[in-house]
Amino acid sequence: MSRNSNRKHTKADRFNIDEIRKNAVSSIQLGVEDFVISRDTPGKTTRALSAARNIYAGVLLLFKYKIASLAKTPEQAQALIYKPASVLPFITDTGNISWSPTLHDKETINTGMIKARLESLGVNHDWKAILTLRDCRNALEHLHPTDPISSIQASIAALFPMLSRFITEELGETPAALLGDAWPTMLATHDFFKECQIQVENAWTAIEYPNPAMNFLRECCCRACYSSLLGPLQEDVDNQVSIDTTDFRLQCFACSKTESAIEFLEDNFSDVHEDPFEQAEPRTVQECSACSARMYLITDSTCHWCGYETVWPKCAGCEKPITEYVANEGGRLCDQCAEDEWLEQRR
Ligand SMILES: [Zn+2]
Ligand SMILES: [Zn+2]
Ligand SMILES: [Zn+2]
Repeated sequence: MSRNSNRKHTKADRFNIDEIRKNAVSSIQLGVEDFVISRDTPGKTTRALSAARNIYAGVLLLFKYKIASLAKTPEQAQALIYKPASVLPFITDTGNISWSPTLHDKETINTGMIKARLESLGVNHDWKAILTLRDCRNALEHLHPTDPISSIQASIAALFPMLSRFITEELGETPAALLGDAWPTMLATHDFFKECQIQVENAWTAIEYPNPAMNFLRECCCRACYSSLLGPLQEDVDNQVSIDTTDFRLQCFACSKTESAIEFLEDNFSDVHEDPFEQAEPRTVQECSACSARMYLITDSTCHWCGYETVWPKCAGCEKPITEYVANEGGRLCDQCAEDEWLEQRR
């Protein structure tokens, strides 16, 4: 160990990466609040400036948190996010020369250094959005009162998709859990919502979820928050859980609620197609003989999970579906038609 890192020991002890994370989140939350005020309150359009400043600062902190989290010790973490004041040679215990950076007391790494370090540490990231935000913030510093505020708000909103991807892919967390109330606000911006919708669709397509099931899923929304952004749970995708078992879960993109995908679809399917007060036999929704999901509709003889089609037995008299039991017993009439026929023969 170099003398340099020994000397910095006390400071490193106080260094806590969870603080960076907390500050990042509260900065983003403040920024999103400012964004909403600038958009919704007449006369408060200049709040867009502090929105951009706060969100920009928060995103940079989140990047620093990611960098620091790659370190094994607080000393390493600190060295990763403070600017080196100079790089000096030291003689090690074995007599070798080792070059170590002495760290700045206050100054942490800037945007360019964050980018370079993330890249050299192998964290892939789309930098266009952050550079757009930097330009936007720089432009805001020279804001003229007559500048169209909508274009500033648009560039802030353009940052949301990048932030969402970074949190999911690089931090391995759900944005809803990390960002709290700021998250639904971000989702409520139209363009971002569209982008999330595409992202969710692609995630289902990538695991080859059956088309009929996806078509029906588009009509459903989260039972907890009513969001329509329901995607496959990444953990189950990573663990290659079979999509045709009830173990495979979906996750709400807005509130992170998870539940069994098939059970969720079956419940919603039953709500749409069955009247809980009607006891009629046969039930309109049956278990599919191909995939076992309770999403086979006897009225169109199709399973709405896997797409399997098979003709459901119909009454020879009125063409209404008859129970499988009656059909298997060689019957061809529904109860009503059978009774009518019986009365007819008595006459
Ligand atoms: Zn939800
Ligand atoms: Zn099926
Ligand atoms: Zn009939």
